[in-house]
Amino acid sequence: MSHIDEIELEQLLDGNLPLVRNLVVRAHLTTCKECQAKLEELRKTNEELRKMAPGLQKLNEADRQSEASTMGVVTQMFSHKAKDSSD
Ligand SMILES: [Zn+2]
Repeated sequence: MSHIDEIELEQLLDGNLPLVRNLVVRAHLTTCKECQAKLEELRKTNEELRKMAPGLQKLNEADRQSEASTMGVVTQMFSHKAKDSSD
């Protein structure tokens, strides 16, 4: 039996592996220490990358905030209009 491709191991970590391949890869992993070690190594590398790039999370937060403030402006505009028309 051939070993699991590194690309497929990464896809497994990302949850992007198609179900059929997922089952094959998992079945192989239960019997193959070599691929288990490889997967563990990839997982650690992914974690390190995430630690090294905390800016990614901050960027998402900034996105959410600007979205929220845009919504706030729109809501204000609407409430002003409602007030004007009721007068
Ligand atoms: Zn293997």
